[in-house]
Amino acid sequence: MPLKSLTINGFKSFADKTKIDFTSGITGIVGPNGSGKSNITEAIRWVMGEQSAKSLRGDKMADIIFAGSDTRSQMNHAEVVLEFDNSKKELKTDQENISIKRKLYRNGDTEFSINNKECRLKDITELFMDSGMGKQSFSIISQGRVEEIFNSKPIQRRSIIEESAGIALFKQKKIQAENK
Ligand code: ATP
Ligand code: MG
Repeated sequence: MPLKSLTINGFKSFADKTKIDFTSGITGIVGPNGSGKSNITEAIRWVMGEQSAKSLRGDKMADIIFAGSDTRSQMNHAEVVLEFDNSKKELKTDQENISIKRKLYRNGDTEFSINNKECRLKDITELFMDSGMGKQSFSIISQGRVEEIFNSKPIQRRSIIEESAGIALFKQKKIQAENK
């Protein structure tokens, strides 16, 4: 499913609002060490629902908010918007264009939205579940992840296969139903 654009504002090193348009084909991001390449992939994982500060290389979630530099003061919130082209209906919704947004304030307040309609994190997770996209999916392969997959225990590997096969959503719904 094609990504259309990523807009980052106040996330990690991106103090200025930055929009990356993904045109057709392959988009390459190049830059010197420390210029923010990994921060871009982390912004994608974050807006798709990443809840582990550690996996975003921080101690607490507020560490993803621009912390200030010699010339700029720290920011009060971070916001990331990711736009998808859903014309092939790969996501479980009729809408052709999907835009998901996540915002976090230093005081811990947080907002999620789908097409500018406020929602819960769960709604975003469910939208992408079994689409092959997701914060844990193969769509984003970070440094070390390939090794991690090959070295993982059978049970973890099984959950990766289950997600690719499209049954993770039903498993989660079953667990939720049993807990009600
Ligand atoms: P490499 O080529 O070494 O992998 P990279 O391009 O992937 O580098 P990143 O790891 O994305 O670089 O960026 C690291 C930079 O982001 C560091 O300079 C770090 O100080 C900065 N950074 C991380 N979190 C924040 C934050 N909350 N506020 C401001 N800057 C931050
Ligand atoms: Mg990097």
